[in-house]
Amino acid sequence: MTIENILSPWAQNVSPSPTLAVDAKAKALKAAGEDVCGFGAGEPDFDTPSFIKEACAQALADGKTKYAPAGGLPELRKALAQQYQDYGVLEEANPAQVVVSPGGKYSCYLAILATCGPGDEVLIPAPYWVSYPEMAKLAGATSKFIFAGDDQGFKVSAGQIEETLSANTKLVILNSPSNPTGCLYEKAEMEAIVELACRKDFLLMSDEIYEHLLYDDAEHHRPASFSKEAAERVITVSGFSKTFSMTGWRLGTLVANPTIAKAVASLQSQTTSNATTFAQFGALAAVQDWDQAMQAVQDMLVHFDRRRLKLLEGLQAIEGISCLRAQGAFYLFPKIAELGLRSEEFSARLLEEEKVAVVSGHAFGAEGYVRLSYATSEEVIEKGLDRLSRFAMSLD
Ligand SMILES: *Cc1c(COP(=O)(O)O)cnc(C)c1O
Repeated sequence: MTIENILSPWAQNVSPSPTLAVDAKAKALKAAGEDVCGFGAGEPDFDTPSFIKEACAQALADGKTKYAPAGGLPELRKALAQQYQDYGVLEEANPAQVVVSPGGKYSCYLAILATCGPGDEVLIPAPYWVSYPEMAKLAGATSKFIFAGDDQGFKVSAGQIEETLSANTKLVILNSPSNPTGCLYEKAEMEAIVELACRKDFLLMSDEIYEHLLYDDAEHHRPASFSKEAAERVITVSGFSKTFSMTGWRLGTLVANPTIAKAVASLQSQTTSNATTFAQFGALAAVQDWDQAMQAVQDMLVHFDRRRLKLLEGLQAIEGISCLRAQGAFYLFPKIAELGLRSEEFSARLLEEEKVAVVSGHAFGAEGYVRLSYATSEEVIEKGLDRLSRFAMSLD
């Protein structure tokens, strides 16, 4: 064995997450005493609602410290199945169609792994979440990208998908509200894509992890709820991380037709076994007392919305930067191309010269843009905007 062939093709080809890397770099600078304005965070900055933490603590006290069924705690799967029936995603509240995983990220990975292999193509609208192409690669499938810039609200049309389809297209990925853009698909736009999926016979993975983080009275639409046929071919992925500020708990969900759900549960049983047992009891409390859970989310949204508008206004006021009014998640995705730097150089120099951390659009397949997370305080937003504005002016 030599150093050249010690790693498998999977390990050789996979890239580490660039968003986690930016956040880590900003945190390291901060730890070294630098006054960093971090807009890199991919997680809410609030604490988990206390009633959820208490339910988990109670489960620990009660000794819920052993393995649970691989697909999730039966009572949690049942409660989620009921919820997805209410959403119109499931025709019947069938727990066998729900899998609880260690994180929405793992749900996405298993959705891809369960359906795609060598020879299959995965269509990924760009700007995309950084992990999708890597997951497709790990499944041995090929990724194809479809670009949608700010001129089309960062949303691909059914027509664009149709032009890109080939006989090998197995899966198309949707993520609304989107990371990195914060944009949402309208119902009609989503319906056209679902109609195409049924007509051209491909699967959809709908990553709805930001489904509850909405502003300006925007509405979230679940493609699996559109028709019986849609429910057959849409894999719905979500989780507790973003909605309830539970990123460290590692709890994701997946809802799919029985064949796919069973395969996902089998893959999970052989790779990670169940998501942490006592953590699932916290999630169960959230689903069982949904009103209280949604009230906690509303409280966070008040802060998120104020920050969103502050950041949006500030960005739009900077000459050379334009930014769409995104209505979901906690990201804005301004265009910086007019300032004359490639986005990787832009973000590197911004961190170096002004100690402001943003993620290069390049990482999301969107040159000319950067991602700013407003999961940070208004104070940091104000200070960061001042620095960003000074940086933009220095580029003239
Ligand atoms: C954060 C995120 C996820 C999953 O997060 P987990 O912490 O693994 O639950 C999935 N998709 C997108 C687009 C995300 O931003």
